[in-house]
Amino acid sequence: MSLSENLQLVQHRIALSAEAAGRDPSSITLLAVSKTFDAQSVLTAAQAGQRTFGENYVQEAIDKIAATLAIKPDLHLEWHFIGPIQSNKTRQIAEHFDWVHSVDRLKIAQRLSEQRPASMPPLQICLQVNVSGEATKSGIEPEALLELAREVSVLPNICLRGLMAIPEPTEDVQQQRAAFASLRLMQGDLLAAGIQTDTLSMGMSSDMDAAIAEGATIVRIGTAIFGVRDYAK
Ligand SMILES: *Cc1c(COP(=O)(O)O)cnc(C)c1O
Repeated sequence: MSLSENLQLVQHRIALSAEAAGRDPSSITLLAVSKTFDAQSVLTAAQAGQRTFGENYVQEAIDKIAATLAIKPDLHLEWHFIGPIQSNKTRQIAEHFDWVHSVDRLKIAQRLSEQRPASMPPLQICLQVNVSGEATKSGIEPEALLELAREVSVLPNICLRGLMAIPEPTEDVQQQRAAFASLRLMQGDLLAAGIQTDTLSMGMSSDMDAAIAEGATIVRIGTAIFGVRDYAK
């Protein structure tokens, strides 16, 4: 199947899951995760109407952003960084991205805020939370989330938009839903503490339906759009 057919199928899946959950499909943003795929793949997706793209690796992303701009300077694509962040990469992230989903410590948020160019709008931030306990290492522990959110919410050049999670993969839909529900409840806890956010970044190709059922506002979809990744390339 072609990339644009895949994209249509994913959009249809979002619409069906939203409808089943009694939600407006337009409240869910499809983030096309283009890591390991080239600028031409991004442009093909853009041709089919996709505008929002996610990347995990800083150098690969920066090259790809430059390549798409060189070919289509008038195309206004939105770029989201979703990968692990090393502190020596924050400047490049702050200078090239619109959103960052994977902030899980204060030092990284402070650097992104300091290094965000004054000429750009505030960087839109999600805090990544570890909802699967010992199984995964990235993401702030739920017990420490409120304090981090308080500290991040007052930084000047970034805007705290919400929470992101990558739960441990499972085919059990009830387990998928439980992990996503826990992130939604944490967003409620932030609200109760006076920190308002509007974004839940959760759901990938294999668990997006459960994520939408539990309130995802951004689903991050790679394989179902671009195909299986070949890391050897
Ligand atoms: C690669 C990746 C995705 C996309 O995963 P698929 O299973 O290919 O849809 C989503 N989120 C993050 C953080 C990723 O690293």
